[in-house]
Amino acid sequence: MYLELSEEQKLIQSTARDFAKAELEPIAAKLDQSDDRSPMLANLNKLAELGFMGLNVSSEYGGSEAGVISFSVAMTEIARACASTAVTVSVNNMVAEVIQAIGSAEQKQAYIPKICSGEFAAGSFALTETGAGSDPAGMTSTAFDDGDSWVLNGSKIFITSAPYAGVFVVWAVTDKAAAKGKGISCFLVEAGTPGLIVGKEEKKMGQHASATNEVIFSDCRIPKSAIMGKPNDGFRVAVAELAGGRIGIGSLGLGIGLAAMDAATRYAADRSQFGQKITGFQAVQWMIADGYTELEAARLLLMQAAFRKETGRSFAKEASMAKMFATEAANKACYKSIQMLGGYGYTQDFPVERYARDARITTIYEGTNEIQRLIIAREILKNFA
Ligand SMILES: Cc1cc2nc3c(=O)[nH]c(=O)nc-3n(C[C@H](O)[C@H](O)[C@H](O)COP(=O)(O)OP(=O)(O)OC[C@H]3O[C@@H](n4cnc5c(N)ncnc54)[C@H](O)[C@@H]3O)c2cc1C
Repeated sequence: MYLELSEEQKLIQSTARDFAKAELEPIAAKLDQSDDRSPMLANLNKLAELGFMGLNVSSEYGGSEAGVISFSVAMTEIARACASTAVTVSVNNMVAEVIQAIGSAEQKQAYIPKICSGEFAAGSFALTETGAGSDPAGMTSTAFDDGDSWVLNGSKIFITSAPYAGVFVVWAVTDKAAAKGKGISCFLVEAGTPGLIVGKEEKKMGQHASATNEVIFSDCRIPKSAIMGKPNDGFRVAVAELAGGRIGIGSLGLGIGLAAMDAATRYAADRSQFGQKITGFQAVQWMIADGYTELEAARLLLMQAAFRKETGRSFAKEASMAKMFATEAANKACYKSIQMLGGYGYTQDFPVERYARDARITTIYEGTNEIQRLIIAREILKNFA
């Protein structure tokens, strides 16, 4: 067994790293403090040109066909510089992948190239509702068949990229009489469709450059052809796609954690107290050792999940393990980093407080880590039944 990236994967990693250092890192702190997202949207376009919006998508639809491992390493490099940009890229990839997985030939041709090329700044994944977060099968948004169209009603909450998304993948109940989770279908709704309203934007703790909005459907009429996959089979699709998305979020968490540890270690190597560098104190050395070791373990879990998905093996348990472990390691790394900087770590003169705020959501979105633990335990217990 030899754990090494291929030459192509290394090239994607170094391309993402170089771009992140040159274009994302210099503006990340400013984006965190500003309402102007135009610099991030410009960078999304450049990332699309470099092929980062469809890393695991067929070249037939404008994707890079680089695979899931490349997706993971790219997400980590982008998140090392700007977590807001990284989450947008992760969700865009997820939206492109779900259309590739279950869309009709026409839907794939109509939407995936626009996401991959940057013609659409973003795609949105609209699943969560106020009463249906960890339990999305409890959603109440509906779509009814009105002859030659579907009519959507209801609202979604916390939808990433909604104000600048070109297309929304939306889940709604199509058979109210069906058992829970069995009567949900998946639809593609274009931005600008009458009755699709992008509502209130959340004021968040971190990841400020990524918009998170309510999305309301009010008698939103879409063509009959806008359904994706089989009717009433949408919930199964959402569950499957979220498993892949978790590799993205774990990789994003890893990137933030590494950025925090690098910043803190650089600082500690320079800072003196009691007449010596603080890196001479074992207490500080242990923080460095523990932080990097946990992040390396996270990386290996992520690589395993990505490898399994890329090679067509089952990966739901591994993706949940990787997401859970990586995002918790990232949060711990961020708090260690603040500790290593002492009082300076708590100020905005250094980036570690931003990293800690940006990392915090990673244990919550795309399935809280409590839900990841339920998935992991359920998969393990199957072998003990
Ligand atoms: C910034 C941001 C971006 C997001 N982006 C998107 C997006 O693009 N698209 C989208 O559809 N959603 C998105 N979400 C929604 C996100 O996925 C949900 O917030 C998340 O799944 C949790 O749902 P909830 O907030 O309703 O919490 P709840 O489900 O109410 O959970 C509250 C607490 O209860 C715990 N809990 C719930 N059920 C169980 C259980 N069975 N066992 C143990 N503990 C449990 C949870 O772990 C949590 O600690 C985003 C959220 C945020 C904040």
